[in-house]
Amino acid sequence: MVARMTTLGRLHLITGTITGTIIGATLCLTSLAQADIEAEFNLDLIPEDQTLELVQPPAKIGPLEIYKRTQLVFDHYKVPEEPNYQTELDQIENVGSVGEFNKILQILDPKKQFSKFFSISTTEIQGFADRSSKAYAEMSLGLTEIESDEPQKLTLQGLKVAIDPGHMGTDLWDELSGKYIKDSKGNKLSEGLLNLQTALLVEEELKKLGVQTLITRNDLVPVTSTPFESLDVKDFARKELRLQSLGNWFQTLVKNSATTKAMFSNFLKSSKVKHLFSEVMRGDYFNLREDLDARVDVIEKFEPDITLVIHYDAQDKITVKNGKTIREKVVMPGLKNRTKAYVVGAFQPEEFSTREARMNLLRHVAQPKVFHESVKLSKSIVKKIHENLAIPYAVNADPDYPVVDLGNGVLARNLRVSRKLPGHAVSYLECLFYNTPAEFTALSKKDYAMEIGGASYSYSQRLLDVARAISAGVVEYVEGQQ
Ligand SMILES: [Zn+2]
Repeated sequence: MVARMTTLGRLHLITGTITGTIIGATLCLTSLAQADIEAEFNLDLIPEDQTLELVQPPAKIGPLEIYKRTQLVFDHYKVPEEPNYQTELDQIENVGSVGEFNKILQILDPKKQFSKFFSISTTEIQGFADRSSKAYAEMSLGLTEIESDEPQKLTLQGLKVAIDPGHMGTDLWDELSGKYIKDSKGNKLSEGLLNLQTALLVEEELKKLGVQTLITRNDLVPVTSTPFESLDVKDFARKELRLQSLGNWFQTLVKNSATTKAMFSNFLKSSKVKHLFSEVMRGDYFNLREDLDARVDVIEKFEPDITLVIHYDAQDKITVKNGKTIREKVVMPGLKNRTKAYVVGAFQPEEFSTREARMNLLRHVAQPKVFHESVKLSKSIVKKIHENLAIPYAVNADPDYPVVDLGNGVLARNLRVSRKLPGHAVSYLECLFYNTPAEFTALSKKDYAMEIGGASYSYSQRLLDVARAISAGVVEYVEGQQ
């Protein structure tokens, strides 16, 4: 399973109970300076109305006013300024034509928000920080380089492939991330281990063909070198405030305040804000922010031609007891097995909240050829898994789900890792559902063994078949380019 940019509020991987037990038992968490956090929520510290002129009766609030109020909230919480990012944009070669942008915008921006933040002229795309009002220019991309170079031809010999096995593995990290399944007898499959074993086997297959590979982790550990217990929760909470600032809860607090003081007071009392600054968020910040960004850094430094992100999917069993939702990580009879790959896209309206996200979107929009290569690569791999392992293609049946279905098991979705890698083909694989009874049984078989971090770990023929299908998909994609 994967987590999208703004799912922190909805998708709580870690409950307070689990975090408490795990951290208390094994990580000896040094308690964060609790008093420090509480200072953020002290009503006595609300500044006086020095900026009253900005605040109008709620009915009259326009987009510019909303933007200015949002900045006041950021200032109050000491949300750090974002970098300029113009250098990243100036480095883009092979900018596509406006006609090509408009075609892929339907996939990258299905909710049509792009034009609220960007203006396109014949010579440049200008980006703005404020939605609709477009008063604060923040980036630009020259369109003078419009041309139609032939797509870069790849060959297997010397091809650079980065492989990112999702999550970590081991009981500790499995509990913290929730990425495991247990059957009724207590047998466990860890997604972090399945991902790593698959990645190592894909790497082995590709190396035989002369491919240069990079794997983001070789062991059942995070990629980041930051220790879990020393992550600065407040620091991440501040960035998270900016990230969630176009969300409904944030916008409502901004719009429904008659004075500056009332607005600050509303934020200070907000359970959402308190939650973001609380210790409960440590796991999410570590797994979904710090560690994913470390993976992106490692991949970028390698300058790959292709990146494969490897995951196995599962569906939690959800029951409601006495009004409480209970999620169980169990084998699910009746669950339909599906294979799919995600390419970047389907930015949601609330996901335009940071300059970094807008810059990344622009980089994807500006390079339609790269986008089309990601789709081709993904279709090639998913087809091999579909054919060789007899797994049907995933189809998006839920109109509210934030994806665009591109057919044959390939869907566009705004995932953190793919969003941050705009220069080459990226395929984010959810190979199959490992908590269907048949897959759980097949993947639990101990047909072979491999050494990881000095210990022996068994794996199944089924997992080897998945790895070979992925490798065959890469080969077919590369050869199809000739
Ligand atoms: Zn996963």
